Amino acid sequence: MANFINVILPIPLERLFTYSITEEESVLLQPGMRVAVPFGKSKIYTGLVHSIHQTPPQAYEAKEIHQLLDDYPIVKAVQLKHWEWISSYYMCTLGEVVRSALPGAFLLESETLVLRNLEYEVEEKELLDDEFLVYEALQHQSILKVQEVSAIVERKNVLPILERLLKKKVIVLKEEVYYQYKPKLVRYVKLGVAYTSDEKLEELLNSLSRAPKQSQVVLTLFQLQGSTRKPIKVTDLEKSSNSSKAIIKSLVDKEILEEYFIKTDRVVYDGTSDTSESKDLNEYQESALVDIKAAFAKKKVTLLKGITSSGKTEVYVKLIEECLEKGLQALYLLPEIALTTQLISRLQEYFGDKIAIYHSKYNVQERVEVWQNVLLAKPKAQLVIGARSALYLPFSKLGLVIIDEEHESSFKQFDPAPRYHARDAAIVLGNLHNAGVLLGSATPSVESYHNAQTGKYGYAEITRRYGNVMLPEMELVDIKEAARKKRMKGHFSERLLLEMEETLSEGDQIILFQNRRGFAPLLECLTCGHTPQCPNCDVSLTYHQFRNQLRCHYCSHHTALPKICFACGSPDLDTKGFGTEQIEKEVVGLFPDAKVGRMDLDTTRGKHGYEKIITAFEQQELDILVGTQMLTKGLDFRNVNLVGVMNADSLLNFPDYRAHERTYQLLTQVSGRAGRTKKRGKVIIQTYNPFHQILKQVTNSDYEGMYAEQLYEREQFKYPPVSRIIKVTFKHKNYNVLNEAADWFAGALRANFGGTVLGPEYPPVARIRNQYLKHIMVKVQKVQSLAQTKANIKRIETSFKAISMYRSVRVIYNVDHV
Ligand code: ADP
Ligand code: ZN
Ligand code: ZN
Repeated sequence: MANFINVILPIPLERLFTYSITEEESVLLQPGMRVAVPFGKSKIYTGLVHSIHQTPPQAYEAKEIHQLLDDYPIVKAVQLKHWEWISSYYMCTLGEVVRSALPGAFLLESETLVLRNLEYEVEEKELLDDEFLVYEALQHQSILKVQEVSAIVERKNVLPILERLLKKKVIVLKEEVYYQYKPKLVRYVKLGVAYTSDEKLEELLNSLSRAPKQSQVVLTLFQLQGSTRKPIKVTDLEKSSNSSKAIIKSLVDKEILEEYFIKTDRVVYDGTSDTSESKDLNEYQESALVDIKAAFAKKKVTLLKGITSSGKTEVYVKLIEECLEKGLQALYLLPEIALTTQLISRLQEYFGDKIAIYHSKYNVQERVEVWQNVLLAKPKAQLVIGARSALYLPFSKLGLVIIDEEHESSFKQFDPAPRYHARDAAIVLGNLHNAGVLLGSATPSVESYHNAQTGKYGYAEITRRYGNVMLPEMELVDIKEAARKKRMKGHFSERLLLEMEETLSEGDQIILFQNRRGFAPLLECLTCGHTPQCPNCDVSLTYHQFRNQLRCHYCSHHTALPKICFACGSPDLDTKGFGTEQIEKEVVGLFPDAKVGRMDLDTTRGKHGYEKIITAFEQQELDILVGTQMLTKGLDFRNVNLVGVMNADSLLNFPDYRAHERTYQLLTQVSGRAGRTKKRGKVIIQTYNPFHQILKQVTNSDYEGMYAEQLYEREQFKYPPVSRIIKVTFKHKNYNVLNEAADWFAGALRANFGGTVLGPEYPPVARIRNQYLKHIMVKVQKVQSLAQTKANIKRIETSFKAISMYRSVRVIYNVDHV
């Protein structure tokens, strides 16, 4: 009997492809294994076996597979089910899901580029003959296509060889980075415990009277400690006391001084130190835990609303402990890789080497390792922490899913497909596994809170900060008034400056929030009003002072700062608006003694951008951190006592139905960074609209008020959670083609759904990288069938693509766009 398999190819094909297999292969093959298959004239792909059957394809003659790549399935049946849900819900192909789900090393294909791994010393005698040939070729040619490798080893089938080389770390794939970050530890010094009282200190100084240099060091340290409350660096002490490393070392050896580090290396857990018991919960945490468990018992997805610093993480820890004790796996999702650093070191204290970390910045081999560990349910991958892609892992016995900061819109993948919402996809995953699913946030999304209110989700809350630290005191500062009275220094009000001075004098740290990077968004000609635009995108260029450039934030275009106006030639150019870079510069001018850092897309681009800045701030290497919304997400800094919001208005004026909800979340979250551990923190929000409803709700921590008002508006205008939105984007380089195509599509949609189709409309930036863009929004009421609507849209697309002029127009679906 003839045997066939249906294979998912990692490309945007609507259908699965059928290949024929031998009798022998049919015994070995199972769904979820990979096969190397030919495709088109000369391509080779790695495909995933979806099913095995006896039905030959109708339209073409099935080709034979090249080779089986796995001994056992690397993708489980329940995963395939989940991926099928993602593909159908988010309107993309299963191949696109597979491409985004599997680590690149699992998907070698003829176009893959391989390089030598220069960071690895290769033991040549450990290489097999064919492996050696490839290795040798890479000495002469730094980069090879898989096709070229075929020619070198004179075989069609080279994927297994390359997989072995990857595993042996001899090669790497292009576009991946190998690195491991070890933060530089700063050494601090203080007087030994034996000498902290005045008498003991005097005794000590007397005893050192014959060692003037040592005595000088002790005296200097004493003075430094008096003048600042901040930890004192060994290097500072050395400089101020005019001494040497040797003298300080001898004092440390005598235990007169004590050296210490504020944080130890947090990324690389060496697996040696013991784990500690988790913390006992206080009564508020305990009662939230009871509520969560009760809701889990009823199989309900549960929302935990706990104000910032209420100790949500410790509640998660209890749930994870229980899950692992049952021998089940747990998944902990975070919206942003930047957050994992802090969380990992915290959770490693409790779970040690049971934790696996998984995200797209990890190199291919590490990701393959985690994949295998999860697949085989190894002890070292019982708790997986990761950003959204971690939900693709091959869990076999998932018992708990935690989605922290569930309100974050960065859980939604924007590009490329699948444009999935990791929170929602994780809920589906949890349900498939019968696992408990917990959403956590201080400022839940309107959707999730609505689900809790209507009883669809279970609900638990914590309304106090841990240790009863009060929420920070919030103050709105009217900068319109201040500007009119010429009471501003740059972008700083007197109130903010005063609070900053006080905070610094206490030795505490400050966060300044400005939701815009760059120096000033715009350059404007004072003579003719012209503002330089990006030649590729319909957007003004942003002024970056550091490089003295104008840059486009949508494509990579940049040019040197012009001396005269492009339009009229006038030299009177001025900047308009302001960004983080300008704030940083002003702070340096206003507080020359303070150490200032900046955290935004520009400063965190490097391999370890995030970790470096976060660690420096934690170690109190920096006094003031200026940043964009990157700063707002769940970071736990101990010594921040003041948060300044430079300008709240730019958030409010965003043209989106979620703008107010977002502003509330952003401001509440950034405020939550202040005063987390000891005394009450302070937040200063500068604004031109101190009477704006949302700002009042923020300062009063009135989440309920915000929610009620937003829900009312959503009901009025039929936005989520009352409806679902599918955004259809059209993209084409020709303006007229794009317009016609979008109109045609909208017309066809209207003929199907009537009034719930909005647009086509240009987005605020209507051309990016020389491609014109237009959107249509389809609002699907809750009573309508979403599946039916999608099927209709797909049908329309089929007719659309049959029109030759529109064939080259890209159609992109974004379901539940945020
Ligand atoms: P959230 O995640 O709600 O913002 P965290 O879990 O970060 O809050 O807790 C805030 C701080 O309080 C952390 O420094 C944490 O270590 C501490 N904390 C929370 N719960 C406890 C507890 N039960 N015992 C001791 N310390 C706790
Ligand atoms: Zn001009
Ligand atoms: Zn551009």
